[in-house]
Amino acid sequence: MAIELAEKAKELGLKYFLISYTDLFGSQRAKLVPASAITRMQKDGAGFAGFATWLDMSPADSDMFAVPDPASLTPLPWKKDVGWLASDLYMDGQKVEQGPRNILKRVMEQAVQAGFQMKSGVECEFFLTLPDGTEISDKLDTAAKPCYDAGALMRRYDVITEICDSMLELGWGAYQNDHEDANGQFEMNWNYDDALITADRHVFFKFMAKSIAEKHGLRATFMPKPFLGLTGSGCHSHVSLWKGEENLFEDEAGELGVSALGYNFIGGVIQHADALAAITNPTVNSYKRINAPRTISGATWAPNTVTYSGNNRTHMIRIPEPGRFEMRLADGAVNPYLLQASILAAGLDGIAKKISPGKRLDINMYIDGHTVTNAKRLPLNLLDALRALEASATLTSILGQSFVSAYTKLKHGEWNAYAAHLSEWERLVTLDC
Ligand code: GLU
Ligand code: MG
Ligand code: MG
Repeated sequence: MAIELAEKAKELGLKYFLISYTDLFGSQRAKLVPASAITRMQKDGAGFAGFATWLDMSPADSDMFAVPDPASLTPLPWKKDVGWLASDLYMDGQKVEQGPRNILKRVMEQAVQAGFQMKSGVECEFFLTLPDGTEISDKLDTAAKPCYDAGALMRRYDVITEICDSMLELGWGAYQNDHEDANGQFEMNWNYDDALITADRHVFFKFMAKSIAEKHGLRATFMPKPFLGLTGSGCHSHVSLWKGEENLFEDEAGELGVSALGYNFIGGVIQHADALAAITNPTVNSYKRINAPRTISGATWAPNTVTYSGNNRTHMIRIPEPGRFEMRLADGAVNPYLLQASILAAGLDGIAKKISPGKRLDINMYIDGHTVTNAKRLPLNLLDALRALEASATLTSILGQSFVSAYTKLKHGEWNAYAAHLSEWERLVTLDC
């Protein structure tokens, strides 16, 4: 029986629904719909002018409809009479091919056809700053190695626990919160799940963290590298493929307890890393996180090479324990649906073509990496990554030509705006030429 949202409104005491979708850049868009109007919206969707958001559309296009998925219904813990809904996008009766949630569902369907279900967990890192975003909010948070700083964590107890209590109330299995490696930076973790559930929760988490921080007079930002001398905000994704209750990446006999299938998946991610970066590291600023020199804490903890390792955080892929790997490339700006869809697309190709990930490296890439290996570097900037994505026939065929065209078109716009910007650094190094 389909879930009737009007019934749910009565059962949960909801007065409004927030029918939302994320555009290509991961910005969340929504309409606030009174419960009395939800039955029609559940069927037809809420109308939006797609061009007004980050989608490759025209102002002359007809309305785009966000049709809510009732399974995603999440009452806002900080505004209990509102129910949040993730939506799939339609236009002229057809699914919108560049719709990020549509894309993830499509790639997951391809995985199901191949006999796999992807589960994933994401680790969201963010800064708590002043409302204008220029400085961290805690003036006492100045340690040179601030990771796990108990005092700085407890000074933000009210914000962090309001978010964590909300996750507990929603049944996500929240299990730890910490102060991260940069001053003013935090990370909060909840349980892994089916990739679509994780992506919906990831979207909701960002919305919730920002909303609750605002209530406390602060700003939560997931910007990849807001402060140059400090560690940036990553968005690590832990990946495994399942068949029913069986984790197909687990194999006692495999190296580090990972199966041949798991290594082929990793092989796909390694092979497509340059193109993937255009999606997992989607902004101009993203490349300042993965190419930055060491920070004052001693390490960036972000990868800068296309390499994998065992339980070693200096590589793009880490295998912390049997049965899963951690993809450390993505950052806080990533679109949650495209994050899962692109990793799965690369991994499925790795499996289909039995791609080997090459040799595992167990060295400290920050110190030894570039002297003792000729390991491939990650793209140095957004433009290189976009060109790699455009050149990837494989990712284009799995993620969809219309998505890749739409996404790269809008992102080239961002790159061109950046290229047209005159920086202080340029002035400094060129003025006397
Ligand atoms: N903040 C680091 C990054 O940019 C990751 C720190 C960690 O290992 O949790 O990826
Ligand atoms: Mg972390
Ligand atoms: Mg991690």
